[in-house]
Amino acid sequence: MNPSNSPLTANYREQILAAFTQACTHPGEADEQHNLYTAMPKVLLHDHLDGGLRPQTLIDLSAECGYTKLPSSDAHTLETILHAQANSGSLEEYLIPFGHTTAVMQTPEALTRVITEAIEDFARQHIIYAEIRFAPGLHTRGGMTYDEVLHVANTAVATALADRADSQWVGLLVCGMRQDPTDVQQAALATVRAMRQQASPQLDDNPSYTEVQHMTPRLAHVVGFDLAGPEHGFLPHTHTAALQLIRRYAIPMTMHAGEAAGVDSIKQAIDAGAGRIGHGCAICDDIQPTSNPTSPWQLGPLARTIEQRRIHIECCPTSNLQTGAVDTLDNHVLPTLLENHISAGINTDNRLISGVTLASELATAAHHFTLSPAQIIDMQAAALDAAFGPVAVVDQLRKQYLEPAREIVATIQR
Ligand SMILES: [Zn+2]
Repeated sequence: MNPSNSPLTANYREQILAAFTQACTHPGEADEQHNLYTAMPKVLLHDHLDGGLRPQTLIDLSAECGYTKLPSSDAHTLETILHAQANSGSLEEYLIPFGHTTAVMQTPEALTRVITEAIEDFARQHIIYAEIRFAPGLHTRGGMTYDEVLHVANTAVATALADRADSQWVGLLVCGMRQDPTDVQQAALATVRAMRQQASPQLDDNPSYTEVQHMTPRLAHVVGFDLAGPEHGFLPHTHTAALQLIRRYAIPMTMHAGEAAGVDSIKQAIDAGAGRIGHGCAICDDIQPTSNPTSPWQLGPLARTIEQRRIHIECCPTSNLQTGAVDTLDNHVLPTLLENHISAGINTDNRLISGVTLASELATAAHHFTLSPAQIIDMQAAALDAAFGPVAVVDQLRKQYLEPAREIVATIQR
């Protein structure tokens, strides 16, 4: 990141905590919640790189690479059109704008620009820890290999964070696109090469636990693997060999599950080794209300497993509404998860396409589910606990931001 363009370089932490104190003690008359959640130090675990471009960047990159299928070359109009598609109510329709964004992200320069701007946007929005996910297989049309895509992305993150790596951190999650088993295998192999210094792992590799423990990451910002793309017809068991490889190399894994498909998809994801679940809306089918006021919920076996293993659910409320994963926010699973002490966080999914920021999602959730600022801080802490990045980084960010933020919030509750 060019320091002259960076909004928050020196004293980044002090600026965030001062702004949060100000927002807590002197909330504005209008839009009070949004101000509060803009200022709050935040954690974002589920954010797709190709769903979060700045509109003008999408237009600029289209012009540079000769892509002519954008529905508008005016940033505001383009944004409006993409949001309309996002609000169609079907996941398949929702995915259409990604054809535009991935079309223009086929060179190292384009990829670097999008990542650099995402990290700059996170900094402006007080997102202290983020994991950006992307499928390397969607960025190879210009001739980059899977390994090169990961290398470019890792360098872009490291460069962007160079001036404040101790006060903000960003990791990369590698997505395999589940509708293409070959892509999932390629993405899994590239992830192993990035995270476990190993020249050419094979799908049938079987390193010992000790061997894995001694493998050092080649790309420091690549932190895990994700299974993404349309769920129907492509449940995790379609990709057994690739997911076994990820598990053998002890690579942290999250999976999109229970978004378009049901509880079985979540169960397969957990059986395949997922430590986090993206969306997970369908888990509400395994949590039933009771008539007993002292024990108002009955957890089924899968929900019980999620609770006991502390599997974190990456909730994305607006996206869920847009893709039809839930018909109304009133039926969203998030409040039920919180009542049952299941680890859950709030995420953007796709900032550009869904038309959200993390602050707007937190404000929406706080308003709609009647969550207090203290509860929202607790969710940032739950998300940070579930982060795949280095433990030392996570511990430091917790101490630097979330512990003071808890104390600041306590002042407005007195
Ligand atoms: Zn997603």
